[in-house]
Amino acid sequence: MGTGKIGIMGGTFDPIHYGHLVTAEAAREKFCLDKVVFVPSGNPPHKKDKPISPGMDRANMTVLAIANNPYFEVSDIELKREGCTYTVDTLKGFIKIYDEDVQFYFITGADAVMEIFTWKDVSTILKLCRIVSAYRPGSDINKFKSMVDELERVYRSNIHMIEVPALAISSTEIRRRVREGITIKYLLPEKVEDYILKKGLYR
Ligand code: ATP
Ligand code: MG
Repeated sequence: MGTGKIGIMGGTFDPIHYGHLVTAEAAREKFCLDKVVFVPSGNPPHKKDKPISPGMDRANMTVLAIANNPYFEVSDIELKREGCTYTVDTLKGFIKIYDEDVQFYFITGADAVMEIFTWKDVSTILKLCRIVSAYRPGSDINKFKSMVDELERVYRSNIHMIEVPALAISSTEIRRRVREGITIKYLLPEKVEDYILKKGLYR
């Protein structure tokens, strides 16, 4: 299925917000990606002890959020998988779907890269894709840069850093606001906000 460059944006997306969307769009433009595929996580190993919304709700919100960007799509590859889902398996799944010469760009926030050594099969992940990492406020830029240096030294990996407009938005903050009855307007697409209110999520 086609050649070229494909971005993969993995996340819990509980809920998806403008931080995710701005980052994906910035990566798409900077690396001339053919498209960015959003992959709502199944049962993320690092979030095992925190309750998360049903995969169906997270997928529905993601579909609503990307509707007006022709370069964005959603994949249910992780939601369909039983048990814990790992990035390395997701990448292998995508490689099976697409041509061999497709170059994958895994898009993450800096906070996720800081934890990369805890991911399953880091060295394989770094062989299968390039990492695009967006810096967001709140994470320590110097610590982040030394982490990238170390990954390049240890794995000869290709990690690109991109600057995204200062978006200190997180799903945690949005869930907290809903719980406390504070407005979430302008932090995420209106259709996602409507979905959260209609379904009574995060109360
Ligand atoms: P939570 O607060 O529940 O951890 P989150 O806002 O971090 O949620 P995730 O679904 O965990 O969202 O993140 C998916 C990916 O998006 C991760 O790689 C994360 O680093 C990145 N990301 C999240 N928020 C932002 C943001 N505001 N700017 C850039 N990247 C972000
Ligand atoms: Mg997070």
